[in-house]
Amino acid sequence: MAHVVFHNKVGGSETLEAAVGQPLTDVLTAHGIPTNAVITLRNGKIVPEETTIVGEHDVIELRQVRHYDLDVTRRPARVVYGVPDPVYVKSVMFDTAGQLEHRVEQFDEESFVRYVEETFVQSVLSHGVLNQGDSVVIGLSGGRDSVAFLKLLERTRHRLPAFSITSVTITGLPDWEEPATFAAARASAEGLGIDQVIVDAHDIERVFKLRRPFVEAMNSVVGGESRHLNMVVGHQVLRRMLEDHAQRIGADTVAFGFNGDDLVASMVTWITSGYRMGGIPVRQIGGMRYIFPLYRIPKKELTIYLELVAPELNRQGTPGRFTTGPQERSMAYAMADHLYGLWPGIDYYLFESFATMQRYMFPLVEEKCRVCEGVYVLQEGVRNPIDICDVCDFFARQEFS
Ligand SMILES: [Zn+2]
Repeated sequence: MAHVVFHNKVGGSETLEAAVGQPLTDVLTAHGIPTNAVITLRNGKIVPEETTIVGEHDVIELRQVRHYDLDVTRRPARVVYGVPDPVYVKSVMFDTAGQLEHRVEQFDEESFVRYVEETFVQSVLSHGVLNQGDSVVIGLSGGRDSVAFLKLLERTRHRLPAFSITSVTITGLPDWEEPATFAAARASAEGLGIDQVIVDAHDIERVFKLRRPFVEAMNSVVGGESRHLNMVVGHQVLRRMLEDHAQRIGADTVAFGFNGDDLVASMVTWITSGYRMGGIPVRQIGGMRYIFPLYRIPKKELTIYLELVAPELNRQGTPGRFTTGPQERSMAYAMADHLYGLWPGIDYYLFESFATMQRYMFPLVEEKCRVCEGVYVLQEGVRNPIDICDVCDFFARQEFS
């Protein structure tokens, strides 16, 4: 009979459930114990966790190496507010003078919809995300985020300041014109009674001064050595085309449908790369205001919300080859999802602390691209090409422009 014991650093020992033949790393994962937190002795001898399989007559001791209480994540103190038929459980960790408590609220369908809408209204009213008289351009891909954003606006408009909105759908790549997604874009603009402006490949070729069709250029990106830049280039093109339209109609604000975990994932990339990142949920660059009205709502909540209030708009096709990113992107999202699990509500803390950091960082240095005329932020410690943005520089080097 195998015996696996965890000796923690706060004076306790605990027998862990483990089956003969089970990898020890599985046992650790199942019990919420990080490999980095323990030294393992099997029958009195130090062994690596990664190569250890629980044997029938083994006595395995796990000794925590540092003095701290791992139970803050393994068995957090909880206060649960329950309902009979929950569809979703929202958990937020509160830190009150160093004491941690998870407040866990269960929602049924009705209270969940109310919760998401309340979160949305509160987050756009604070930090000056949306103001009276704003003229806002929103990129409407028909993806869940942009559709959920318009649905939220439609259902909460009476509680928001009066602003004007134009939705812009950018076409020119097969992924951006996937029929179910495109139909969802059209339906949600109609639901809100706003016009849907279509920007096409010719507009993109004009702004980026491309000498060949945009789709051809992007095909050689995804098929070539620079395929890892595929989503970066795609996003930059979308952003620039939204701005281009905003400038034409005299709008001062561009709204992006990035949700809570999108922004937490970009903070993971930011903190591990040191790249410049503008403010959350509002950034001002080159005379244009960029806003993230969904920054308090994770993708999972948006998806359930859409399923409950407008299931017919929740039927997008699968992402195509132009919407598939490198592993680095998956890593950032996986880290973000794990962080939410370990520290529920970490987004609240991250965004607040980031707002403080924005105040003590050196001011952003802006430059205007001589090709697409987009305004971008210079990066420290790397070679910044003169007067040309990353994407136009990339297009020029590939001889697309
Ligand atoms: Zn450019």
